Amino acid sequence: MLTGIHFLLTYTCNLECDHCFVYSGPNAKGTFTLNRIREVFDEIPKIGTIEWVYFEGGEPFLFYPLMLEGIKIAHDMGIKTGVVTNAYWAISEDDAELWLRPFCELEISDLSISDDSFHYEDERDNPAKRALGVAKKLGIPVNTISIEKPTIEAGIDKEKAKGKPVIRGGAMFRGRAVEKLTEGLPKRGWEEFTECPYEDLKDPERVHIDPYGHVHVCQGLMSIGNILGISFIKDY
Ligand code: SF4
Repeated sequence: MLTGIHFLLTYTCNLECDHCFVYSGPNAKGTFTLNRIREVFDEIPKIGTIEWVYFEGGEPFLFYPLMLEGIKIAHDMGIKTGVVTNAYWAISEDDAELWLRPFCELEISDLSISDDSFHYEDERDNPAKRALGVAKKLGIPVNTISIEKPTIEAGIDKEKAKGKPVIRGGAMFRGRAVEKLTEGLPKRGWEEFTECPYEDLKDPERVHIDPYGHVHVCQGLMSIGNILGISFIKDY
């Protein structure tokens, strides 16, 4: 049952990570307009099962007023909200508090902060750590997302490839990760990929919707239609 809508608020990002499966970066085009956000929210009551709305990207804080307005619309509709960010904006604790304080009033239910070597070289003092500390201080429900560079371990993957090398690290090999992170890793034929380990494609609990209205059942990879009825792509 579909319970979550994830807005890919923008494809633009201040970073350009090797593992990014939506090819985000400073030059990536595509950002929701306010009207298009409202159009998606107009569909939510018709679906009738949506409990969560997330704002992610790209980097949603690059379009901060738009993100806040989306959270406000969801809050007014009684829908729980989450945000995924790389926390680039947390350049000091005071600044982090300035950006995060509106989340308290809007009762955001989950702030997910990317904090790993793909995003920040300094593991002890970086914007993600700063944002995490300030969010905790403000009482905002917060967690971190941490992915490591892929490594190969000899072993047994209990569920599937028995006896085959196991790839550790947590990176998903789609989008830019396919080009940047797969060198030297063992490969499999496409015929072996008969099920998705991440999403239930027949009965998804969540879908991602991008600025052009595409409804992704696999984020960045597979669209099942267009919720906004857009038949051409115009870059904003
Ligand atoms: S992984 Fe996140 S922070 Fe990195 S480029 Fe993609 S959207 Fe930006």
